[in-house]
Amino acid sequence: MSEKPAIEVKDLKVHFATRAGTSVRAVDGIDLVIPNGSFHGIVGESGCGKTTLARTIVGLQKETAGQVVIGGRDRAEWMKSDRKSFSRKVQFVFQDPLGSMSRRQNIYQTLEEPLLIHGFGSAEKRRNRIQELLDLVALSSTVLDRLPRSLSGGQRQRVSIARALALNPSILVCDEPLSALDVSIRAQIVNLFTSLQKRLGLTIVIVAHDLAVVREVCSDVTVMYLGRVAEEGITRPLFREPAHPYSQALLSAVPSANPLIETTRKRIILPGDPPSPSNPPSGCRFHTRCPVAFEKCGAEVPSLREAPHGGKAACHLATSNKRPIVD
Ligand code: SF4
Repeated sequence: MSEKPAIEVKDLKVHFATRAGTSVRAVDGIDLVIPNGSFHGIVGESGCGKTTLARTIVGLQKETAGQVVIGGRDRAEWMKSDRKSFSRKVQFVFQDPLGSMSRRQNIYQTLEEPLLIHGFGSAEKRRNRIQELLDLVALSSTVLDRLPRSLSGGQRQRVSIARALALNPSILVCDEPLSALDVSIRAQIVNLFTSLQKRLGLTIVIVAHDLAVVREVCSDVTVMYLGRVAEEGITRPLFREPAHPYSQALLSAVPSANPLIETTRKRIILPGDPPSPSNPPSGCRFHTRCPVAFEKCGAEVPSLREAPHGGKAACHLATSNKRPIVD
């Protein structure tokens, strides 16, 4: 195992200019370290910047400032000097598998394409690799001559995962890979991700809005709010004892399998919608909705500080042995 983290994100900013002349600060100063072999969840409401962050990690989106480092190498430099070797290392799984495939190519061609681009062996070697990929994602070879649109949603997502694995990457970044699927299929794809991670030793980053899934599969988690990290840590302790009032509200909506906890679960409803990322509030970005905000919150940006669960929370009230409790 390499000593360098799989992914480091350093003071990353991604701003988009709007027609109105303003700037949307989708990602606005994020630091993140994702160790090798972890299964990292990125969560938060729509518009918090989690998809932009994921796309920027893999170079599908250019950063405005800051740096992404993959396995100790600067991602921007790496892509500029040797894009192919970068894409052998890091792959992206899209939210909509159908939209990310050519509708005219059958599944064999879909899976063979990255192998051809990267000059992977003879036709026979490619055929063998395609069979290995089908085995990895538990698909029958009967899908090979079919077109993507004739497959079920679950089969299509398995094909898109197989294609992402074609070049044997060590990092998979997945943007809401379950959201286009029926609830009944989601568990199967979640199980597929966890078994692939163990079998292949992958580092997986998954952008998700389903916190129950994140609790189930992710070793660690980052909670984002309005382009910044609100809280981060190891999933189980953070979910048990969230220190940031925003995480407490998000997690209060997640049903518990434990009937004792479930009967006493109290939903925290936040007032209003998230503010616009083109004009974020001063100080703590969450202060306009935070049930325990106080004077300092509107004036001073809280740094990420140690929280009782062992991770970090960006809240003036969180300390290593105390956390604010929202009733
Ligand atoms: Fe709430 Fe203030 Fe903590 Fe922000 S810093 S989460 S506004 S208490």
